[in-house]
Amino acid sequence: MAAHILIIEDEEKLARFVELELVHEGYQVSRSGNGREALQMAEENSYDLLLLDIMLPGLNGLEVLRRLKQEGNTVPVILLTARDAVMDKVAGLDGGAVDYITKPFAIEELLARIRVALKLHGSAAAAKKTAEPGNLTWRKLSLSEQRHQVTWAGEEISLTNREFRMLKTLLENRDIVLSRETLLEKVCGYDYMGETNVVDVYVRYLRSKIDEVYGVKMIRTVRGVGYVIKEEQDG
Ligand code: CA
Repeated sequence: MAAHILIIEDEEKLARFVELELVHEGYQVSRSGNGREALQMAEENSYDLLLLDIMLPGLNGLEVLRRLKQEGNTVPVILLTARDAVMDKVAGLDGGAVDYITKPFAIEELLARIRVALKLHGSAAAAKKTAEPGNLTWRKLSLSEQRHQVTWAGEEISLTNREFRMLKTLLENRDIVLSRETLLEKVCGYDYMGETNVVDVYVRYLRSKIDEVYGVKMIRTVRGVGYVIKEEQDG
């Protein structure tokens, strides 16, 4: 899925040029030339990155940044600053921008900075997306398929590949008791030749990393049948 970048720049020619370059690189791009409008766009959409000019009509870039951060928005922001605006750069970085680039800039440098910012900060932005596909939750637990990550109340739980697949399978089939054979196939692949009790081993690992740590009973044993995660909120 292409990263979605919002360009906030009132110099039409520059904005258009950057837009064309970014589209050429495969990014999805939106544009605004007004700080107030851009702030609203950033509040209503989940962008992966903002390119934010400082001198803007409506609301200046530093103010847009300040308000976004105040609202808890974690989208990474790269500031576009004038050559001699040292104070703007300092204020911008202090205000939570991840980087800045001085105008006029070589497009290659901007592209490189965007790649770095997305790589370093992309997951934080994705975490803000509530309707992210492939997201499974149970109480305070959240499993993101895209990021291959499991968290409890925002705290990351480190799982192996097989533990992750096991948890995902159980979460996807909530309230359905899954047999060891079914889980084995999902977790180890259909051609796995080992014992089905590896399922019990992974359940034990998951319980030690989740149930025991957070004091819950997530994975239930159904004796003689298999395992289930129940939707109900008791226990
Ligand atoms: Ca400007």
